[in-house]
This record gives sequence, C-alpha cells and structure tokens, in this order.
Amino acid sequence: MQPLIDNARTFGQRPEKFAGLAQGQAPEVLFITCADSRVVPALITGARPGQLFELRTAGNIVPPYASEHPTGEAATIEYAVEVLGVQHIVVCGHSHCGASRAGARRRPERRTRRA
Ligand SMILES: [Zn+2]
Repeated sequence: MQPLIDNARTFGQRPEKFAGLAQGQAPEVLFITCADSRVVPALITGARPGQLFELRTAGNIVPPYASEHPTGEAATIEYAVEVLGVQHIVVCGHSHCGASRAGARRRPERRTRRA
C-alpha cells in the first residue's frame, strides 16, 4: 500500500504532463468493465489520461434501467453519453471473474437441483 500512497503524493508534482486535462475532458470511449484489480483498462488499451471514461462494477453488472430507482451505473452512462458525448461504449469482460462465477452459482436452475 505504501508505494501507492507515495505515488499519489508526488502525482501533483508533475503538472506539465497533465495541465491540459485541468481544462476538461472529452473522452471518445465509455469503457465498462469489472472492478477486478487485475483489469486495468488503460493498460489493456494503451489509453492516456482523458481518453477513457470508466464504469467499473463487480462482474460488469449494470442493473436494468428504472426511472423510479436511479442507480450510479445509469447516471454514469447518461453522463458519458449526454454530457461528454462519448462515441463508443465498450463492455469488457475477463477470464476468471469471481463475480461472474458467484452469479452463475446463484442461477435458479442450480438451486432447483439442490432442493
Ligand atoms: Zn471480474
């Protein structure tokens, strides 16, 4: 954990690399993926800061839209499309996903077999 804290503390000491980003963001891509720590969108795509707007949830789960029950996921997607004007939405799954595995175990067919 300490190296992460050290990097965060020195991040602001390199303003020339990120000065343009202070003016705003205009990413072309909304990248939806798992919150798994092994999945690093910028590493996978080679994107630089400002190029990807990210939505990360365990297992890429995005609940169905329901106007009477707003969610953070819906707000993130709406902001990306309506305000930022992203042109592409990428949904990126990954192998060995613990959240997906847990969801598969809860499928009704399996519960029926156990009963
Ligand atoms: Zn996962």
